[in-house]
Amino acid sequence: RKYQKFGLIIGATGIVGNSLAEILPLHDTPGGPWKVYGVARRPRPQWNADYPMEYIQCDITDPEETQSKLSKLQDLTHIFYVTWAKCTTEAENCEINGKMFTNVLNAVIPNAPNLQHICLQTGRKHYMGSFKEWGKGIGFHNAPFYEDLPRLNQPNFYYTLEDILFKEVAKKEGLTWSVHRPGLILGFSPYSMMNILASLCVYAAICKQEGEPFKFPGTKEAWNSYNDVSDADLIAEHHIWAAVDPIAKNEAFNICNGDVFKWKHFWKILAEQFDVENGGLQEDESRKSLGEMMKDKGPVWDAIVQEKELLTTKLEEVGGWWFVDFVLSIEGTLDIMNKSKEHGFLGFRNSKSSLVSWIDKLKCSKIVP
Ligand code: NDP
Repeated sequence: RKYQKFGLIIGATGIVGNSLAEILPLHDTPGGPWKVYGVARRPRPQWNADYPMEYIQCDITDPEETQSKLSKLQDLTHIFYVTWAKCTTEAENCEINGKMFTNVLNAVIPNAPNLQHICLQTGRKHYMGSFKEWGKGIGFHNAPFYEDLPRLNQPNFYYTLEDILFKEVAKKEGLTWSVHRPGLILGFSPYSMMNILASLCVYAAICKQEGEPFKFPGTKEAWNSYNDVSDADLIAEHHIWAAVDPIAKNEAFNICNGDVFKWKHFWKILAEQFDVENGGLQEDESRKSLGEMMKDKGPVWDAIVQEKELLTTKLEEVGGWWFVDFVLSIEGTLDIMNKSKEHGFLGFRNSKSSLVSWIDKLKCSKIVP
């Protein structure tokens, strides 16, 4: 097979990385045929193994390992950077995430003479500030967010990544970039650090197993407000569009489904999908965080995995409770897709269908019952 493009996915088992790994090698993907390389630290999981991708186990926090494994990929034309590290403070986030990205660029840019474009995924915290600062009102922009809003005056690892990108790209003539800013992502990967849907499916399955109602662990503001989400496949399509379309070069773009939802409506669908009683919003003081409710449920999950013959996972791998508690404690935010549309990207998703189809995929892949 004669390849037109050679793509490297950094984070190939993550929530968007897994979608890129599935979509890039398809015969009708724009710019193709694509030869695909994918990087992550853990051994390649079964649910990612069928994609025609050369899988490279590499820890990109380690400069030597990154140099030795990625400098060999001399045919690369594109990088899709869809990973991150979660640290305790934002200063550490900036330092560690900056080093990871630099290690990759140092290994690839000098050794891949045909490198054309780098897609960097960041997100809505660009406008809202880091998790720690979010909601404190420190210069936080009012939604709906659009791409040209000025940066917030506080440390943010997304700004660090962008600045590294701009600096490195400027060193090589003809090399272009794009920045992709999704909101909350709906997708599949059980290896993601922030997969709200997989976590909620696990929670629903535990409620069903224990005969308990599926209670909303969040606040009234989150329950009632308008929100939007970004489908992982749509984000992958957005990356690929920017990778091949000249009009999208050297720009940052929001990427969300283009419609709105409320958690109170999604909650009903989730309850139906797992055949569990919808416990709804908890307005009294008995409301507990999901982290609190799930803290002793490891053995319950182990029993579900065994009884339902699921792929072996541990509760702490598939339940990102800190992230769910965070998202469901705040009022929803929205962004605007005008810039992408004006530049020719007209992709969208129906968020309700997106929710149901990712639940189906999690069930079919035997991650949840
Ligand atoms: P995920 O957590 O879903 O995936 C991360 C991927 O990177 C996995 O494949 C992981 O596999 C791999 N990885 C992690 N650390 C390393 C490392 N040191 N070396 C090599 N591979 C590594 O990532 P997301 O898609 O969620 O995050 C990408 C960006 O998107 C981040 O900036 C995030 O803030 C942003 N974002 C995410 C949202 C979400 O809802 N998930 C919402 C909006 C923005 P392994 O662990 O095996 O190495």
